[in-house]
Amino acid sequence: MLWVVNILLDLIIGGQILKWIENLKSIIDKNTPGNCPVCNSINTDYSMHIIDNKTNMGYGVIWCNNCKNAFHISRINVSPNMKNTLVPEGLKY
Ligand SMILES: [Zn+2]
Repeated sequence: MLWVVNILLDLIIGGQILKWIENLKSIIDKNTPGNCPVCNSINTDYSMHIIDNKTNMGYGVIWCNNCKNAFHISRINVSPNMKNTLVPEGLKY
């Protein structure tokens, strides 16, 4: 799957993906990010933004409203059921 390749690229570039991989899997499987990998709060959210309407490729952000830690997904195949909400200010990437 393409998103796996992109996650591997993110792993090489960032390293943060290791922390957030379960949250990303949870969004893909259950449409909810689950517990924050930093502070374990359930007060997490995500937003996916489609850049290319033909391929549904885009980027995303997963964040924690409690500790403000966040993860930027540089490329992901966004499925239609995923949320596109306003990303809050002051997140720590
Ligand atoms: Zn947190």
